[in-house]
Amino acid sequence: MSAMLEVEALEVFYGASQALFGVDLTVEEGQAVALMGRNGMGKTTTIQSICRMLPVRGGRIRFGGRDITALPSYRAARLGLGLVPEGRRCFPNLTVTENLIAAARPGPWTLKRVRDFFPRLGERADQYALTLSGGEQQMLAIGRALMTNPRLLLLDEATEGLAPVIRREIWTAIAALKAEGLSILLVDKTLSEILPLADACVILERGQSVWHGDPGALTDEIERRYLGL
Ligand code: ATP
Repeated sequence: MSAMLEVEALEVFYGASQALFGVDLTVEEGQAVALMGRNGMGKTTTIQSICRMLPVRGGRIRFGGRDITALPSYRAARLGLGLVPEGRRCFPNLTVTENLIAAARPGPWTLKRVRDFFPRLGERADQYALTLSGGEQQMLAIGRALMTNPRLLLLDEATEGLAPVIRREIWTAIAALKAEGLSILLVDKTLSEILPLADACVILERGQSVWHGDPGALTDEIERRYLGL
């Protein structure tokens, strides 16, 4: 195994206010890593920094062996970082197919393959994204990231606000992507859903990574201390 993503001592500010105080995390090729922590601990900030949507003040981000710390987001995306952002963020006034095509980059994930993977996106092809259900919008957000043919898929709260049956559908889809070897970094608050999928966990506490390890090594004490359970 070699590291797909290496984040070291990451420090990020919003204006004068520091949000990350030293985040370390590694995603090995083909691994799914769960980034966890209570509300406001820096998970979304970490994901957005990796995707180069926020300036980095300290530390280093390496992706596929290359230093991307100072790269603009469109170049990071071209290197293969596929973000499924919190809140889904599809283009509301484009159709499902237009949303997918707008993201397309060459590779094994084509419009046909994405529709085979999420048949609902084929059935809703000509509907505007704003008319989709929450679950369908989430499928579209994942489908759009797949259309970029990413080497690493970053999922920020992919099941937030969805009904249990739809959540299961989304988790099944993510598990299938992992099974075919895609590297994944995911943020989610529901431990019972995220842990079966994760090869490794990283916990953030006030903008710092304070624990990392195998999901099996997560004790009740660590969960109580850092995840508030
Ligand atoms: P949640 O689970 O609630 O999404 P999170 O772990 O993703 O939380 P972040 O959203 O990364 O946490 O927030 C980390 C810190 O940065 C928090 O203290 C938050 O208030 C602050 N923060 C986030 N976004 C901004 C912003 N746009 N401007 C200023 N501060 C921000």
